[in-house]
Amino acid sequence: MKIALLSRNPKLYSTQRLVEAAQERGHEIRVLDALRCYMNITMNRPSVHYRGEELALFDAVIPRIGASVTYYGTAVLRQFEMMGTFPLNESVAITRSRDKLRSLQLLSRKGLGLPVTGFAHKPDDVEDLIKMVGGAPLVIKLLEGTQGIGVVLAETPQAAESVIEAFMGLKTNILVQEFIKEAGGSDIRCFVIGEKVVASMKRQGKEGEFRSNLHRGGTASLVRISPEERSTAVRAAKTMGLNVAGVDLLRSNHGPVVMEVNSSPGLEGIERATGKDIAGMQIQFIEKRLEELHTSRSNPSKTRGRG
Ligand code: ADP
Repeated sequence: MKIALLSRNPKLYSTQRLVEAAQERGHEIRVLDALRCYMNITMNRPSVHYRGEELALFDAVIPRIGASVTYYGTAVLRQFEMMGTFPLNESVAITRSRDKLRSLQLLSRKGLGLPVTGFAHKPDDVEDLIKMVGGAPLVIKLLEGTQGIGVVLAETPQAAESVIEAFMGLKTNILVQEFIKEAGGSDIRCFVIGEKVVASMKRQGKEGEFRSNLHRGGTASLVRISPEERSTAVRAAKTMGLNVAGVDLLRSNHGPVVMEVNSSPGLEGIERATGKDIAGMQIQFIEKRLEELHTSRSNPSKTRGRG
């Protein structure tokens, strides 16, 4: 197969591992910086150019698109899709999952467990907003934050009110969420490929820290997940339309709750914690999907009616 890997940095662990895994299986793989791709949007022959060259057709494309370049990155991915290249994750699914509010609304519509969550932009009655989500302690999040930055725990209604007011001054969307204290500063990352959780790890925040992000000094360890956690993670990925996803769950008193569904989950933490070849599993998934696509194209009657 010929595979394109959209990644801004060939030196990143995840990028390197995917390159290695593809080559080990005898595939040709090329790392492309999506921001450097330029495109011709014509109806009869869409193309992608890169450093003065028109790219030949790829069989598959693996998008690893950073949050800050979602808009242009997904446009490039869409161009590959228009050219008939199979995307490991589709552009629409990535766009959907990058919008936190939209994601939470979709997940709740499918009946998945979520922390009680409110969102607001410029509420006139902050007290009522706090009451609406069950009162303090509350977690207040800036929607644009990543890696735990802009996530604040307010232990009292007064603290909640002043944090909300401060965030409102930034003229941004905010999310106000029930604090899942019983999670004890940890969360569970489930790595989903296809309809399976292929690996999972527990991330624990450092002493006294409720945020478990590895970037904030958290540590990762192996964990056994329950059947309910497994099915929640798979359903969450499916709801977003992602073939590959990192689903973050909190263990609450009322069962697993979904915190986030990540469309470009990193490989370093999870491969190191579990010792599994998750890069290889992604390549295998692409092999399988392409084979199915070829079979259905060469023998359409066999698959007709499957929907
Ligand atoms: P980011 O996307 O910036 O990493 P998250 O929403 O994932 O932000 O929050 C960072 C961390 O804070 C999570 O990994 C989790 O450990 C903790 N956390 C977030 N929301 C809650 C909550 N409602 N209750 C308890 N802990 C939470």
